[in-house]
Amino acid sequence: MRDIEWKSVLDTASTAALEYLNSLPERPVLPEAADHGAILAALDCPPAAAGVDPAHVVDDLARDLRPYVTAQAGGRYFGFVVGGLHPAALGAELLVSAWDQNSPMFAATPGVAVAEELAARWFVDLAGLPPQCSVGFVTGGQMATFTCLAAARHELLRQVGWDVEARGLAGSPPLTVVVKTGVHVTVLRALRFLGLGEQALVSVPCDDEDRMRPDLLEDVLSGIHGPTIVVVECGNVNTGSFDDFTAVADIAEAHRAAGNPTWVHVDGAVMLLAAATPAMAGKVAGLDRLDSWSTDGHKLLNVAYDCGIAICANAAAHRAAMSVQAAYLEQDTGARDPLDWGPDFSRRARGVQVYATLRSLGRDGVVDLVERTTGLARRFADGLRKSGYAEIVNDVVSNQVLVRWLSPDGDNGRLADAVMAGVRAEGTAFFTGTTYRGERLMRISVSDWATDENDVDRALEALLRHARRAIA
Ligand SMILES: *Cc1c(COP(=O)(O)O)cnc(C)c1O
Repeated sequence: MRDIEWKSVLDTASTAALEYLNSLPERPVLPEAADHGAILAALDCPPAAAGVDPAHVVDDLARDLRPYVTAQAGGRYFGFVVGGLHPAALGAELLVSAWDQNSPMFAATPGVAVAEELAARWFVDLAGLPPQCSVGFVTGGQMATFTCLAAARHELLRQVGWDVEARGLAGSPPLTVVVKTGVHVTVLRALRFLGLGEQALVSVPCDDEDRMRPDLLEDVLSGIHGPTIVVVECGNVNTGSFDDFTAVADIAEAHRAAGNPTWVHVDGAVMLLAAATPAMAGKVAGLDRLDSWSTDGHKLLNVAYDCGIAICANAAAHRAAMSVQAAYLEQDTGARDPLDWGPDFSRRARGVQVYATLRSLGRDGVVDLVERTTGLARRFADGLRKSGYAEIVNDVVSNQVLVRWLSPDGDNGRLADAVMAGVRAEGTAFFTGTTYRGERLMRISVSDWATDENDVDRALEALLRHARRAIA
């Protein structure tokens, strides 16, 4: 092997990383003046003929790119649904990068394969799902949904005598997909990749909290014959609500008993871990009776980007949809091969950070993640309600809050946008909006492990200050 000087690169990177992490508490959440032209000017040094020393490049990157990095892990980023960074995850990710493990097979990387096998087992156990579930570590919630729905497609068509892996979808028996009104776009994108066009979709209306109405699901299913996929949610992106899993499981069972192959998938990107907490277990009763679950490691579990988790009760269907065999691979070791459980072939060892984070958090730490983020969401809701400047639109049952700013002139949407823009420009916190049932609202997602009461209070103070200013 060539003689490589690792130390200067590692020292440069770790010094810069530590400086950054230590700056998080006071750093503006969104970089100032992050306009495209300025960033381009800072970074655009095309590869020269002679190249540049690695440590020098890393040093330049730290100097030139860091000003434009968003402090997503700083405790005051409440936009979209974005997790922070658990230190155990960061440590594991650094090791995995240094080890440069390509992770499709046990034969190629036995340690990683076993660490992922354990991370999978622990996660399934914490989420209260059946122990025989199979798990794939993928890039995110969307690809986890893709993976689970590929397993569903395989299994439902198999039950009507169609081998979709061999024959594709041209000429196949029809497969109907039942979703809720306002289904997350990533479900639609996963279905697109699976060749299940939007015309295969049927929508079921929701109640006030964006929960699928079970009575209307029953009505819809009574008109569907043949293979049926139903997609529900554990943690809605707007309201944080949970579908009625017991009712859905009962209805799906009846549909199946009437001769229709049926598979229920749960998009649990936001809150699959609710099942880990005794306080919330009642809200997710019946979750374990369904067929597959997708979630994110990089959201509530707070591992580094990127990590999604695909879980199927029917491991054979999961494997049949994903696995491939070839003579030039070594797949007869009897151990779990990561490539059997997700769409990637070569990939980074992203399950290792799940292993590290679950070990470090422990059972109580996972419960605390769910309960604390939910408690902090309620703190936001209470503070805003009390101020008189805003109303809370949803029932805050988990870590998501929907806020209606109240403008004296009646233009609530304009006020919402002014408040969000003001807080964002000041750098105190970061919120994003949505149009919900025709109304412009502000969303709050508390998904960062590092967020504490002080962060919420600072963000509340800034929100109310900008609201007063915008109204005046
Ligand atoms: C974030 C999210 C997804 C997609 O997850 P990615 O990790 O971004 O791919 C899917 N569903 C819901 C409800 C989400 O919040």
